[in-house]
Amino acid sequence: MLQDQEVHAAELERTFIAVKPDGVQRGLISEIISRFERKGYKLVGIKVVVPSKEFAGKHYHALKEKPFFNGLSEFLSSGPVVAMVWEGEGVITYGRKLIGATDPQKSEPGTIRGDLAVVVGRNIIHGSDGPETAKDEINLWFKPEELVSFTSNAEKWIYGVN
Ligand code: GDP
Ligand code: MG
Repeated sequence: MLQDQEVHAAELERTFIAVKPDGVQRGLISEIISRFERKGYKLVGIKVVVPSKEFAGKHYHALKEKPFFNGLSEFLSSGPVVAMVWEGEGVITYGRKLIGATDPQKSEPGTIRGDLAVVVGRNIIHGSDGPETAKDEINLWFKPEELVSFTSNAEKWIYGVN
């Protein structure tokens, strides 16, 4: 059925999400996972890592001219990060909506940063900002064999496919 194929293709959209060291230290891992999971997105990769400063700099390479780049790379490498890949229709763009604006002072209530963070330098979560960065960040943080593909029983209820 054509409809099934369309839905299946949409499910293959993936994004990279990370709970930063502040979110881990504050005990917000399960809260953050829960928001993506309850929405209907699917967790296909997860690990706890302490990235090196060099690795953090690679992750944030697009910001290397910014005055806060050094502090940002230092902070990301200061402790455990929960690195994840989430899959689902619209997960890149909608994941950013779940996260909220970069500055928690400007994030709407109801978003992760709006509800759980106060300042831009400690905004607890990272999410890829587009399809290209999602692909690059997933490849940077994960080996292909660390990601799984599976059909969850909930999908027919989430996407309406029988
Ligand atoms: P994001 O995609 O919403 O995370 O925002 P950006 O890609 O623009 O910036 C990456 C991260 O750098 C943000 O999540 C913040 O932790 C940090 N950051 C961004 N802007 C500032 C700033 O003006 N000051 C400081 N200290 N950190 C910032
Ligand atoms: Mg960004």
